[in-house]
Amino acid sequence: MKRRMEVITETDRIIIIKQHGGMLAWCSGCGREINMITPEQAAGLRGVTPRTIYRWVEAGKLHFIEPPDGSLFVCPNSL
Ligand SMILES: [Zn+2]
Repeated sequence: MKRRMEVITETDRIIIIKQHGGMLAWCSGCGREINMITPEQAAGLRGVTPRTIYRWVEAGKLHFIEPPDGSLFVCPNSL
């Protein structure tokens, strides 16, 4: 029963993050907490494709975090 509750809580947390489309996290590039956004949102802000955002991340042009769940968030300040 306890295990089941934990699974539900984790699912809720992921859904909340996706609904808001961002994630408050420490950005080492800025040295403070930033509301990180998804590559898709970043692409929309800059008028480029998400693929371009991933390229910039790989090139080290953007601040980003990679949570343990395998997703990726970028820092809007570095866009
Ligand atoms: Zn940053």
